[in-house]
Parts: sequence; C-alpha cells; structure tokens
Amino acid sequence: GQAGESGVPGGTTQCPFCSVQCKMTIAEERTPSGRPAFRTEGKPNAASEGRLCVKGMNAYQHAASRERVLHPLRKIGGEFVRVSWEEALDTIAERLSAVQREHGRDAVGLYGGGSLTNESAYLLGKFARVALRTRYIDYNGRFCMSAAASAGVKTFGIDRGLTNRLSEIPKSGCIILAGTNIAECQPTLMPYFNSAKENGARIIVIDPRKTGTAALADIHLKVKPGTDAALANGMLKVVLDEGLADLSFIRERTKGFAELKEHLDRLDLDEIAEMTGVDKESIREAALAYAKASTGMIFTARGVEQHSDGHLAVRNFLNLVLVTGKIGREGCGYGAVTGQGNGQGGREHGQKADQLPGYRLIENEKDREYVAGVWGIDPAELPGKGVSAYEMMELAHRQEIKALFVMGSNPIVSNPNAGLVEEALKGLDFLVVADMFLSETAKLADLVLPVTSYLENAGTLTNLEGRVLLREAARPAPGEARHDWEILCELAERFGRGDKFPFRSAEEIFEELRLASRGGVADYYGITYERLRKEEGIYWPCPSTDHPGTKRLFEDSFAHADGLAVLAPVDNRPPEEDVDEEYPLLLTNGRVLPHYLTGVQTRRSPSLAARAIENFVEIHPRTARRHRIEDGTLVRIHSRRGHVVVRCRITSEIREDTLFVPMHWGGVQNVNLVTNPALDPNCRMPDFKVSAVRVEALS
Ligand code: SF4
Repeated sequence: GQAGESGVPGGTTQCPFCSVQCKMTIAEERTPSGRPAFRTEGKPNAASEGRLCVKGMNAYQHAASRERVLHPLRKIGGEFVRVSWEEALDTIAERLSAVQREHGRDAVGLYGGGSLTNESAYLLGKFARVALRTRYIDYNGRFCMSAAASAGVKTFGIDRGLTNRLSEIPKSGCIILAGTNIAECQPTLMPYFNSAKENGARIIVIDPRKTGTAALADIHLKVKPGTDAALANGMLKVVLDEGLADLSFIRERTKGFAELKEHLDRLDLDEIAEMTGVDKESIREAALAYAKASTGMIFTARGVEQHSDGHLAVRNFLNLVLVTGKIGREGCGYGAVTGQGNGQGGREHGQKADQLPGYRLIENEKDREYVAGVWGIDPAELPGKGVSAYEMMELAHRQEIKALFVMGSNPIVSNPNAGLVEEALKGLDFLVVADMFLSETAKLADLVLPVTSYLENAGTLTNLEGRVLLREAARPAPGEARHDWEILCELAERFGRGDKFPFRSAEEIFEELRLASRGGVADYYGITYERLRKEEGIYWPCPSTDHPGTKRLFEDSFAHADGLAVLAPVDNRPPEEDVDEEYPLLLTNGRVLPHYLTGVQTRRSPSLAARAIENFVEIHPRTARRHRIEDGTLVRIHSRRGHVVVRCRITSEIREDTLFVPMHWGGVQNVNLVTNPALDPNCRMPDFKVSAVRVEALS
C-alpha cells in the first residue's frame, strides 16, 4: 500500500475497525522506487488467532492519508484557517464558559464515541462532570449497545458482550445468529462458526436478507424487520409445548417462569407466523434444533437491538437461553456482537448519560459518593443524569443545548432523522469537533482539533468478549495531532480543574480508572498495564491483581443480589412504523464488508473505498419490476422524515417487502435522512431498523 509522509517504522497494534480487535504488526518500508509503503501481518492473539480481514489488512491507509487534519483549524468567514493549539484551546474555554455563564452549565453538551480508548472515554466522562459540570454527555454507542446492555442488566444483573469466550463457539451444538452479519462486520470470527459446523453444530440465522452469514445457515429465518421479539416468542412456545424446557435449571437459577409460561400459553403460533413472515414449521424446526442440542449459544446484534422495542426483543432471546439452561457452562452462553472497536469498553466508563465509571450509576447515592471520593470532589458537585444521544440533538434543535463538544464521532451521519440533526448542529452557538478528518460533522464546526489515530495512540480497549487488551502506540503522532486525553487535560486546566487531570500518559489515567471501577460491575481493579503486557488480555470482572479474570460468567450464580436470572414475558408487537398506502415498503439498514461506521476512515482508505465506492439499495426483483426500477439506476427513497438517493441493486436475497441500504455514507446518500427516531422507552435506542418508505426511479 501507499504510505503518507511519516516514514517511521511501525510496530504491533490492533485493528481499530471492529470489536474483535485483531492483533497485527505494521511495518513501514520503502518500495524499490523509494516510495513509502506499509506491510501488515496478522499476529495470533486469543481473539483472532492471527487472522485479519480486508479492513484490518488496509487499516494503515486512513492513518497515512493526506487528508488527515494535522493542525487545529478555526472557521473564520466560512473558511477553515490554521491556528495554534494555544489559540484553539483558549477559544474553546472562552466560548464554552461564556455559553455556561449566560445559559447555565447544561447549555453545553459532550458527545463521545465507542472507538475511543477506555482511558479517553473515562476522561471524557470525568471532564463533563468535573470540569464542565454539565449533565449532558452521551455517545454514539447509544446506537450500538444500549438495548443489549439494558437487557443484560435486567436479566442477568450485568452486561458483558459475551458471557463466555469466543474459543468456546466450536464446542457449541447449535448457534442462533439473530440480526448479526458476522461475515461482513467481524469476518475473522467466521472460522469459529465454521469449526462449530464441522463439529456437527446446526446454525440458525435470523435476518430479512440472505447475508454472507446466512449462507452458513442450516436454517435461515427470513424474518420481517421489527418482529424479532415475536419470533423468539414462537420459539419459546415450541420449546415449552414440546416439554423441552430445562425445568431444574429454571427452578434453581431463575425467577419469573410462571408468568412467562402463562403468557406464552396465551400466544398463538399461527399469529406469530403471520406477524413475522416466517412459517410455523421453520419456527418449530429452529426451536427444536436449539432446545434439543446439549450445548448452544445465541448471538444478537443491531438487527434485533435497533428498534423501539429492542430491549424487550433481546430479553426474549435471553428468555430462550434461560429456559433451555444454556448458559454458564462450556459451549453455552449469550453474546451481543458489538460493532465498534471499543464498543464494550466505551460503554463501561462513564461517557453515557446515566453512568459513572465501572458501570456505576449517576443516580445512585453510593455510586456518586464512591466516584466523587476517587475524583476528590464533593458528591454534590456531580451533575445529575442527562439524556441519550439523539435526545441531545433534539435539545440542540430546540436551542436548549447551545454548544457541543464532539470527540471521536460523526453524529450528523450516525443519528436517525439526520435532517433534524443537521439543522440542530447548524443552529449551535459553538461546535467543536476533535477528529482525524474533516468529517461531515467537523465541516460544520467552529473549531476542529486534530487527534491521533489508533497507530499513534496507546491505551486499552475491551473487545466483544469483555477482554481488556493493551494497544501500544506503533508510531509518533503526525503534524500537531494530539491524543484525545491530552486535549481534555489541557482544557480542564483552563476550566480551573487541572489538579484533577494531572495525567502524563494513558497508563496514569488507567491507574485512576482501576480505582474508579473498583467494586463496580465492570471491575478493572486487578488489571494493570504490566499484567496486560505479559498476559494476552484479561477478562473483567478482575477484582484483584492476583485474580485471573473471569473467562466465563454465571457458572454458579447470576449477578443479581439473589443470584437468580429474571425471566420476563414479552408481548408480540408489530414494528413501530408499519407500511401503508403512501409508504408501502419497509426499509432496514446495516453494514458492508469494507466500511466502518459512518465511513469517515474507510472512505478515505483507497483499497477499502474502491470496494464500495457509493451507497446502494438492495431491492427484490418483483418489487423493482412493480416500480419500473432497473438494476444500476438511481432511486430516491422517501420516508415521513426525508429522502435518500442511492443506486439500485436488484437481488432475490432480500424479502419482497423490504429494502436494505447501508449506513456508511453522508450527504444525499445518508440512509439516516429517512430513518425513524422513535426511541425505546427502556434504553433510548432509536428504531433505525424499520422505516416505512416508498421508492421512485430517478433515471
Ligand atoms: Fe479483525 Fe474486525 Fe479488524 Fe477485521 S475489522 S481485521 S475482524 S478487528
């Protein structure tokens, strides 16, 4: 590959583009003609076993891109002008202070990201509460983890991505992959599932599309978008009716079974088949395959979770795990397959509106006292709970939030109802964005701060298994780019709180994070950089430095005070927004192999961008014919919120009533111009995955 300007030797690192965190070496070399080039090689670690996918192979390209922002930029007269760090930081302090003086502390919001290291995520939460003392902080992980996290907390008493190790997957007798396209999103995990299949496992995929992952399935349930909870009810009903429930496990390890059974007895399998678009026999076959296998695992991802009932949909799959007793032993468990590089760690250390580090809660008196003690402040100084990411955009739209500080995120592309979000950001008095590139959001900013990439920034990340990994810096920062945490320390100084942010390295921040998380749900106290350098990652909870870490959760008890898991009846519910005459089709969204999140990095990686240069819609041949749409033509897709323009791909792999558009592009190609911002009442997850739409040919 072609390199940028650094010419510095590389080192060992981890791919930033998904939650597996594959380990690799990157060497910077010269081609025979003297041009700089990079060589990437996968290195075995316990998660990836040395594999890399196409994203990992090319992950140096964005870091080496000539489009990197290398100096602070200030918008003057509509144009970005290079300014010094002193000027940039002084301006931020002055403007944010002025907004807070005039409109109150909560007029400033912070917006973080699930790709930040644990140390930066931790420090962003602390900066919001200790330096700015605003209640408004949330992050893009709200869109990724909130439904599975809240379901895990309610059901098990704890939220960790996987309850057991990836290496147990081949020992599983039946695997349900619900709303997760691992073949494109976490490709290096596929060999685990292939091995399970070779060992005789049956694979069940639940997805409205025949994805690369579905190609592996013995049973593919092509579910209507937004009806996953009902489908799980159907499977639960079959399990109970066939006498396949594990009654001794239910008796000894759970509560709430009587209510669940009563609820399921009232449901009708024919109605479930009608609602979900999956025939009764297929539901039965899948339920029997899972229940009869002696071991089994269920994985969910955004297909199940990104709904206004995503919390309940996940809970119903957890009901299925529990009534069959498939958890807490080898080859058995549940996994929420996180998308973002630090999707797991990013959700544990306090950049979420209701949260303090270690999964502590900002509304819990004891938690407030404990964390305030670690931070050396009075608990009364800590602000209260804020609102979720999209709700912050609504507050900005109503001009209640007047200034926003964005770190490691591109909210204008990643939020639902993107038209409103653009108006909200344009209406702010002051917008600061810390990013590697002039993302769609950064282009609207008053100030852009250049930050280091994964190759230059040391820190810990927690992969989808709950395994904490240390990623060392592989090369120095280019230009004047600074680490996210350095920027926060500098700014804290300007808010008179420098004494609370005395950090000179990521490790020093981690030392405080260990204390802040001590005794919490996500307890990192026993993990140190020294241990991480010697061991191949450590699973939390790890309460002491001689603790080996917790590889498998719930072997003897769940994390609720009484040790029991909670079963809960879940209603069959149609999607929040259903079709009608004006909007007769359902739109769902997702990812494609070469791209990551809103594409800010991967669209700037030539080898990745070339594989998917523009956005598209998948449409069934009969639907295309009805709308006189030909393959390769441009179409406009309308919803009640706006429209998106994309190129048409005709494929019979998708349901006839459903369109699929990926989520990696901004501007007129941004699928979120049409998506539904209805929020889940339990976790405030937007209903990204179901929007009623109509489609028209443009050419
Ligand atoms: Fe590994 Fe994920 Fe990177 Fe692919 S994108 S190399 S699976 S970490």
